[in-house]
Amino acid sequence: MTLTHSPEETMSFALIFAQSLPPQTVILLHGDLGAGKTCFVRGLLAGLEGDANEVHSPTFTLMHEYQTPAHSLVHIDAYRLSGSDELHTIGWDELLSRDDTIIVIEWPKRIEEALPENVIHIMIDHVDETTRKILVQACS
Ligand code: ADP
Ligand code: MG
Repeated sequence: MTLTHSPEETMSFALIFAQSLPPQTVILLHGDLGAGKTCFVRGLLAGLEGDANEVHSPTFTLMHEYQTPAHSLVHIDAYRLSGSDELHTIGWDELLSRDDTIIVIEWPKRIEEALPENVIHIMIDHVDETTRKILVQACS
């Protein structure tokens, strides 16, 4: 369990976390609106040596893909998906089969049935205006 005290600290935490990730990882981001899920994705991308400024909430496009020197980071916001049946529109099976791609999902509960067994859960809790509690749980 980690406490962060600013968006920058959450990004730094995610940046270090990203450096230990094998490719073909699926990361599920849990937390309410404004918890810091998109902020966490910025740190992830920075940790993979991508450009953190490219990250915006994909709420209106379902998915964004960022290239980094060694990986592709796929950022999915399942909030607007009706459910897993809509995943074929973003080529879900093909994304899962790639060996150089890290997938990070906001609001994963919406597509629970489609998720693989091997995932990493990140729980972000709002403690106060600038404090967040981050919990990482690997599950296989
Ligand atoms: P989500 O994607 O979970 O809806 P965002 O990452 O878009 O959340 O927004 C998080 C908001 O919380 C931002 O406005 C950010 O500045 C603010 N914030 C304040 N403190 C923190 C912190 N410690 N970590 C992350 N975000 C924080
Ligand atoms: Mg978000």
